[in-house]
Parts: sequence; structure tokens; C-alpha cells
Amino acid sequence: MEPIVKTGDPSPGFLTPNTKMPQASAMKRTDPQQNGGEAFVNRDGTVAEAPRLKKIQFADQKQEFNKRPTKIGRRSLSRSISQSSTDSYGSAASYTDSSDDETSPRDKQQKNSKGNGDFCIKNIKQADFGRREIEIAEQEMPALMALRKRAQGEKPLAGAKVVGCTHITAQTAVLMETLSALGAQCRWAACNIYSTQNEVAAALAEGGFSVFAWKGESEDDFWWCIDRCVNLEGWQPNMILDDGGDLTHWIYKKYPNMFKKIKGIVEESVTGVHRLYQLSKAGKLCVPAMNVNDSVTKQKFDNLYCCRESILDGLKRTTDVMFGGKQVVVCGYGEVGKGCCAALKAMGSIVYVTEIDPICALQACMDGFRLVKLSEVIRQVDIVITCTGNKNVVVREYLDRMKNGCIVCNMGHSNTEIDVASLRTPELTWERVRSQVDHVIWPDGKRIVLLAEGRLLNLSCSTVPTFVLSITATTQALALIELYNAPEGRYKQDVYLLPKKMGKSHVLDWVIYVLRHDPKLTLDVKIKSNQIKFYLSHTHG
Ligand code: NAD
Repeated sequence: MEPIVKTGDPSPGFLTPNTKMPQASAMKRTDPQQNGGEAFVNRDGTVAEAPRLKKIQFADQKQEFNKRPTKIGRRSLSRSISQSSTDSYGSAASYTDSSDDETSPRDKQQKNSKGNGDFCIKNIKQADFGRREIEIAEQEMPALMALRKRAQGEKPLAGAKVVGCTHITAQTAVLMETLSALGAQCRWAACNIYSTQNEVAAALAEGGFSVFAWKGESEDDFWWCIDRCVNLEGWQPNMILDDGGDLTHWIYKKYPNMFKKIKGIVEESVTGVHRLYQLSKAGKLCVPAMNVNDSVTKQKFDNLYCCRESILDGLKRTTDVMFGGKQVVVCGYGEVGKGCCAALKAMGSIVYVTEIDPICALQACMDGFRLVKLSEVIRQVDIVITCTGNKNVVVREYLDRMKNGCIVCNMGHSNTEIDVASLRTPELTWERVRSQVDHVIWPDGKRIVLLAEGRLLNLSCSTVPTFVLSITATTQALALIELYNAPEGRYKQDVYLLPKKMGKSHVLDWVIYVLRHDPKLTLDVKIKSNQIKFYLSHTHG
């Protein structure tokens, strides 16, 4: 289902990038840690040591691309009071973040053991630890490992130069190493400034991958990393693997000539796909693009089950909230919303749903959720979760009306679902109480608990199930193989779904095969005349 974007949405060429918060970049938020002071959260949710409450300060100048931010500016993004306590849990969070090391990766010269320095990551010394993370992920990614094993003799991606912009996690590492085993060269940046697992990035860099990413990048770092991936003498990408559309947007904006050599774009997210359709509608899409998001294997597994399994984890790690009896409003009852609602309902929360699509609204009713308008329940709810792919769903007016202690978070791809920028006004005080947890305090003392600054919660603050990601990653790999090997003329400058037989029947059979773990079922992958074929067979006896 396509997200519905409200009026005033900018034209494709001027889309707001995922991490972009124009006002945020022009402001500096103070962080208690910068004062060297210690603060802690009381059991009632208040933060001790009132003098450390700091007002938002406006920076003198807006930061521009390539203009390096000050060290303080960077530090305020990457440090927080109890970072180690939350970072040490998740796989989306980094296990080995060294809070002592304040140096920006951009200021470090690092080389891997083979003397290669074409990467920019937090700390190459974490590579061994990252390797173990990747090996653990491999255990839960059977579809991708099967593709690697069966197709590596054929090298269907020989000559492919893939530039990628996705979450850099152990699961992505398994995908990148699979693409490499199938013949591709890869350069990679992160699509989210918080979700990089530093140790995994280190393992990839040690393995020879050109990775430009670390957890806690500034916005300037974010675009710098993307630029380092694509702007290299003697190397030009011929395939794009994107999640959210920022990489594609950057190449359109800065290096439009690159599209002469690019054979196709594979896009994973609802948001990125929407941007591609906008480009296509405006007649500006100049290569074929594969919409992985709408493939059945992505939507019905990743969006739904990934979120069902990770919403509670993200909320629990950041807030220690008890779910039973809590009133929660979930905005959007698409795949992500359905997953969140199911998990919260199972934990005994009272779940309300807002929807603008009549079918999804009906589904919410049929599933036993109370359909409401946000304005009706905003004063009473304990938790607000956005999952719409839309923007400005929770605006300042609603934030003003929320009750004290209300937790606000987003599970959609873009950070514009909650109007976080509207909270950066002088009368409100921001206080970072944990990594990815801000208390925004009103003049009367009311505080709301904002998670991950409105960026997607699960990928910023929790782990996501590897098995589900395996299915999506396999779909991405297949889409790349298909676009890269497609004969001239099969795809035009348009957005395509994976060919049905690949996207649905065969891959789904394959997924079912993997899901059932039936030892009697075997699957063969053959690549002949640029066509991938899957054979599912049953062995008797
Ligand atoms: P979807 O299109 O299936 O569902 C979105 C729903 O939101 C639709 O039913 C739509 O009618 C509704 N909606 C739109 N605007 C609304 C509004 N103002 N108020 C209430 N409802 C509104 O999309 P999806 O697959 O559920 O994905 C939603 C978002 O989550 C996307 O941005 C996607 O990229 C992202 N996503 C996140 C994860 C994750 O792990 N957090 C995984 C997959 C997708």
C-alpha cells in the first residue's frame, strides 16, 4: 500500500531526506555529559540534578555539507548519560562502543590488516567481535546462505559494482558478503545515523569492504559517508541498493551523469519506493527500479513480523515501561501497524488505532481494536506510536495536549511522522536521559518521553529478528541479480515489482521450505540464460 502524502509534499527532486531535520541542524542541543556532570533517572521518571536542565540553544549558522561540524556538535549527538547501559544490549545497538573514544571517525586514519584504508568506521579493532556477530546472523539466514552456496559457481553478479545505503547490521553484512560471493563489488553507507553496529562495520572493513558508517553520525557525516561511497576516482557504481531513497536522491542531485552507467535501482522501503514513483511520474526516473517493498516476501514478513517482534523490545529497553493496562494509540494499520498492535494487545495493553484508509480501518475493527481519531484519545494515552509512512501525523498541537510521561515514538521509515522540529523551541527544555531517550519538558513541568528523536524505534533501539531479515535480504539479492542480468529492453525507466514467479511463487516456496525446515524438501537454484529458476522437490524414503 502506498503511503498517502499530505499536500505540500515537495517535488521528487527536492524530497526531504530521511535524516534531515532542517531546524535541528541549525540548533544545538546541550547534553549534560558535556558538562562532565552526572545525571540519573529517578524511578518516577524525573531526572535528578535540576541545574543540568538546559535550554535549547540556537547555533549561529546553519551547517552546510562539507563544512565540518564542531567537535561539540558531534559529541552532542553521539554521547549521552547512560549510553553504555543501553548500547550494550542490542544487536542494532553496538556491543562494543567505546564511550571513551570521542574522536570522530572522519578524523582518524585507519587501515585493515591488509593495509587497505578505503573505509571510514568507528574502530577497526572491533573487527573480530563483529565477525562473531556476522557468524551468529548467518545461522538465522538460511535463504541467503543457500543462495550463496548454490549460485556462487555461476557468479551472476560478476562485474556488478553495487553501491548500497541500508542499515549496517550483522544481517546486512551477510547480504553484502553474499553479493560479493556472487561476484559483486560493494561500497556501503548507512541509511540511518543510529542503527550501525560499529563492530560489524569493522568486520566488513577488515574483510575488504568499503564501508562508511558509524553509530551516531551527524547529518553532515551522513551525507559525507554517502558521498564517499559514490565519489571515487576510477570506480563508478552500476547498481544501487537503497533503503529510504537518500542514496538515490544524492546521486540524482550531485552526480546525475552516473546514471548513464547504472543498470538499476533496488529499493527496500515504502518511503523510498514512494520517492521512486514520484520520480517516475515526473518523468525523471532514468533507470529501471525494483520495488522490493511490495514484494510479498518483504511486506508480509519483514514489515509485519519484524515489527511485531521488535516493538516491545525497543520500548522496553529505552523506557522499562510495563505494557499491561497501558493505553496505546497506534497510527496506521498497515503491515507495521498490524505487527505493533498484535504485540501490544498480547501484552495486555489497551490499543487504539487511527487510520485514513477505509479497508485498513475495517481490518483494525475486525481485529478487535478501537478505531479513533488521534484528537479524541491524545490526552489519555500512555504511548503514541506512528507507523504510517506519512508525515506530520503527530504535530505540535497533539504533543502539547499529551499527558505527563507520555511516550512518543515512530516505527515508520522517515523521521517526519512526528513533528520533532516543532519541539525545538526556546520555551521547551530537552533533556537526554538515556541513549536515544529525550525528555521534552514544558514550562509547567509536563514532560513527554521522545524516543530516538522520532526516528524508527526498532532499528535505533532494539534488535530485529534475523530470520525475517534473511527473507528480505534474499529478495534484494534476487532483485539485483534480475536487474543486472536482464537483457536490454526487458525493463524500461520505470518502477517494477519482482517478476511474479520470482517474487511470489518460487521465492515463497523457498521461504516455506526454509520455514518448515523439512529435511525431505530440497531446493535447487539454477541460473541459466540470465534466468533464475528454483526447483523444489520432495525426496521420499
Ligand atoms: P502500509 O502502507 O502498509 O501502512 C501504512 C498505513 O498508514 C496505511 O494503511 C495508511 O492508510 C496509514 N496512514 C497513512 N497516513 C496516515 C495518517 N495520517 N493517520 C493514520 N493512518 C495513516 O505501510 P507499512 O508497510 O505498514 O510501512 C509503514 C512505514 O513503516 C513505512 O515508512 C515503512 O518504510 C516503515 N517500515 C518500518 C519497518 C521497521 O522495522 N520499523 C519495517 C518495514 C517498514
